[in-house]
Amino acid sequence: MGAVDIGHPGLGLSDLEGFFGSFGGVSPLLVSDYDGTLAPFRRERSEAVPSEETKDLLQRILEAGGEFVLLTGREASEAASLLGVPAEIWGCHGWQRRSPGGDTVTVPLSAAEERALLMLPDLFRAFPPDAVERKPVSAALHWRERPDVLEQYRKIEEVLLERASQSGLERLPFDQGVEFRLPSCTKGEAMKRILAARSFRDPVCYLGDDVTDEDAFRVLDGRGAGILVSALPAVSAAGVRILPEEVPEFLRRWLGALTAGRRGTP
Ligand SMILES: [Mg+2]
Repeated sequence: MGAVDIGHPGLGLSDLEGFFGSFGGVSPLLVSDYDGTLAPFRRERSEAVPSEETKDLLQRILEAGGEFVLLTGREASEAASLLGVPAEIWGCHGWQRRSPGGDTVTVPLSAAEERALLMLPDLFRAFPPDAVERKPVSAALHWRERPDVLEQYRKIEEVLLERASQSGLERLPFDQGVEFRLPSCTKGEAMKRILAARSFRDPVCYLGDDVTDEDAFRVLDGRGAGILVSALPAVSAAGVRILPEEVPEFLRRWLGALTAGRRGTP
């Protein structure tokens, strides 16, 4: 009881009326990925920001008392400055949890995980520094619009894999890059923690565009709406797919349903 029925895979934005119709008297939770979902990709990752329309809608959702959590592979403080909206942010695939005011807590790591992290600074040292993103619990290599970086990666991929697996790091391919991280730091694990703190009655959705988001979609199964943001059909654990340009309209409907639900609450 209480789970939101969103139907079968292959649904689109227009099929979400039932989901939005369930917002009365409950606390809907909007969880979203950042890159490629709220913010279009840029070669310069520091320039990837949401449109003014998207930011304005997120701001209005928060002002209407809506709950919004950003769940990203980026560091939380970096995501906060790019997002420009005072949201709760779970960074580094959920390892960090940053309040809207900036207080940040992290998930404790085991001794083996701490040892694995010592490997990270050297892992991508053969690559151009601007293609490497070093984060506290992972390292990512980006080859968007950088065929030279991809070519170089392919040459030494086996060696990297060997070194990473010996250290206890996991490889995570993503759109236009690869990341090596601790196996415990996934969006699925983060989603479990987010859901554990909330009532089963509350409608939850997760918006994401990439392979790292599939862990979160799987955790959400039966509990809310997994929404793949993609211009192309894809095999996904999400039940719904919307186009990237439909994200503002999705947020507009979320805001409308949220305020209508509040008005209908005794
Ligand atoms: Mg993404």
